[in-house]
Amino acid sequence: MGGSELGYVNEAYRSNWVAPLGPNIDGFEKDIEYFTKANHAAVLNSGTAALHLALILADVKPGDYVICQSMTFSASANPIAYLGAIPVFVDSEPETWNMSPEYLDEAIRFCISEGKKPKAIIPVYLYGMPAKIDEIMAVAQKYDIPIIEDAAESLGSTYQGKATGTFGSMGILSFNGNKIITTSSGGALISENAEHIDKARFLATQARDIAPHYQHSEIGYNYRMSNILAGIGRGQMEVLSERVEQRREINRWYRSILEGIEGLEFQAEPDSDYYSNFWLTAITINPEKIGITREELRLKLLEEDIEARPLWKPMHLQPVFESSPYFGSGVSDKLFLQGLCLPSGSNLTAVQKARIEEVLVRTFIEH
Ligand SMILES: *Cc1c(COP(=O)(O)O)cnc(C)c1O
Repeated sequence: MGGSELGYVNEAYRSNWVAPLGPNIDGFEKDIEYFTKANHAAVLNSGTAALHLALILADVKPGDYVICQSMTFSASANPIAYLGAIPVFVDSEPETWNMSPEYLDEAIRFCISEGKKPKAIIPVYLYGMPAKIDEIMAVAQKYDIPIIEDAAESLGSTYQGKATGTFGSMGILSFNGNKIITTSSGGALISENAEHIDKARFLATQARDIAPHYQHSEIGYNYRMSNILAGIGRGQMEVLSERVEQRREINRWYRSILEGIEGLEFQAEPDSDYYSNFWLTAITINPEKIGITREELRLKLLEEDIEARPLWKPMHLQPVFESSPYFGSGVSDKLFLQGLCLPSGSNLTAVQKARIEEVLVRTFIEH
């Protein structure tokens, strides 16, 4: 927490705005709009809910195809299944580890050859890293398919100075407990399109028609954020830039220890167009060149009570999505085998950093 969250929460308590509406919700939405320069934002109770609503707004129906980056957390793909639609998974390109524009094109051609143009494309900004979004957009525009950006991990990241989540037709953010800023649980849908955001707010509050009684002509959801949690969000927005700087500093620190080791690579910004919040610092280890596997390093860290995690296991390798089409050439498979997320919390202390450094130096430099 940054410090001012409690002030906003107390104000909600004092004024009795203890509901999924109120001044903190309006204030938090304004803060997000201001920070991302998205014209419109609706805060919701999770990033997953935001993606579910985005797919409904993109008119996804049972049996439709929706294209999704394979290398991601399951929450990017699950809402496709909620709607009875079919996810079509696309591999990563090796530079940013995000959606490959080439395989995206191939996946779209497959769907069209099956007689169904995909209803939406979901690229992801893995660990905060901007994707090759201009190339992805060029492919999407060629076929006229809307993009819904999963920017759950990349609040504070930009491509050519523009916030991730603001390139496509809609973008989603997450404020879950593990993200760069948090409301404990929460998310947002952002868009240039005011109608989309109005409709999202309507659907998220049980789709109540305007009437004195409860009248419904559509299926609604209970997806709005609480005014209490939005208070935490307003406080967190005040420290977002500082958090991004802290995470980037951690990334620089890891580089200062590990850069130049043959067979060890960082997920890195390809050039100055890309600005990552470095939510997590992630590396890959080539066991043939280094003589140690990702898993051996993970266990060495664990012996010292330091938790590091493998990268997300790609969706096309998940049992639950076994029957879904996939297009790629094994880039994400290899990232999963060789990749590790290093401890990256913005609250890492000097003592903790020294402990991590000791294991890394012992493993890579002195062995
Ligand atoms: C966290 C996350 C989500 C889901 O956000 P929640 O707020 O936890 O529902 C979606 N996609 C990605 C890539 C995430 O990391």
